[in-house]
Amino acid sequence: MILEIVQYGHPALRAKGKPVLEITDEIRQLGNDMIDTMRDANGVGLAAQQVGVPLQLTVLDVTDVEDRPSTMTIDGKAVNIDDWMPMVLLNPQMELSKDKEIGMEGCLSFPEITADIARAGSVVTKATLLDGRKVEFGSTGLLARALQHEFDHLHGILFIDRMNSATKVSLAGRLKRLQKSNR
Ligand code: ZN
Repeated sequence: MILEIVQYGHPALRAKGKPVLEITDEIRQLGNDMIDTMRDANGVGLAAQQVGVPLQLTVLDVTDVEDRPSTMTIDGKAVNIDDWMPMVLLNPQMELSKDKEIGMEGCLSFPEITADIARAGSVVTKATLLDGRKVEFGSTGLLARALQHEFDHLHGILFIDRMNSATKVSLAGRLKRLQKSNR
């Protein structure tokens, strides 16, 4: 089922997600509906806040973006990303590398707005999957960037909070209008 994606100005986007304590049928349904919703919107990631539910649950799929590669490792060995996507992560924790990479980002809650954002070049993620398995994996490239973007959402942080001041100033008018129309 396709869910409604809330836009900037909606209070759910600023809410910290509550941990998912039990994987119920409702949680499984939410994860699967969010995958459908992300695909329908041509996104690479979607956090529960973006469908109005402040929970520590996010979905990702970077496999359709051919010009922005990703790597994924488990126990230090490269794995085939296609085997892991789409991915539903519950209660993720992240360890970020110190190096920063600048890259273009958009957000399904900010239609038609993109900006360069500095993010850690690689990320180690620990999370629970929808079937209850625990997973720990390394990532670089678009996957590492998308994970950091979604992890922020789960804590009420938005990509506009990570823009440099010049970018923020140049987008100020559009952001204000968007915020007003969704309040
Ligand atoms: Zn986003």
